[in-house]
Amino acid sequence: MMFERWRCAVTEPTRYSTPAVELPLRLDPEPTPVEGCAGCAELADVRDRARAVGDMTTVSDCNVYLGRHPEGHR
Ligand SMILES: [Zn+2]
Repeated sequence: MMFERWRCAVTEPTRYSTPAVELPLRLDPEPTPVEGCAGCAELADVRDRARAVGDMTTVSDCNVYLGRHPEGHR
């Protein structure tokens, strides 16, 4: 339904008008590290530290690499 899309676009800014300090990336489901993969573990670690200092550029970079796991992390 076209109305569904329209409603969604209008509703989101309202939801995020309150500061979402703890969940800044709520819109983006984050890739999770793959069990037993050192690359993933390191990326998750870097991502956590970057998030702690508010470095969202690095956080999203890590998410990109984590999402590329099946192709490796290069
Ligand atoms: Zn991995």
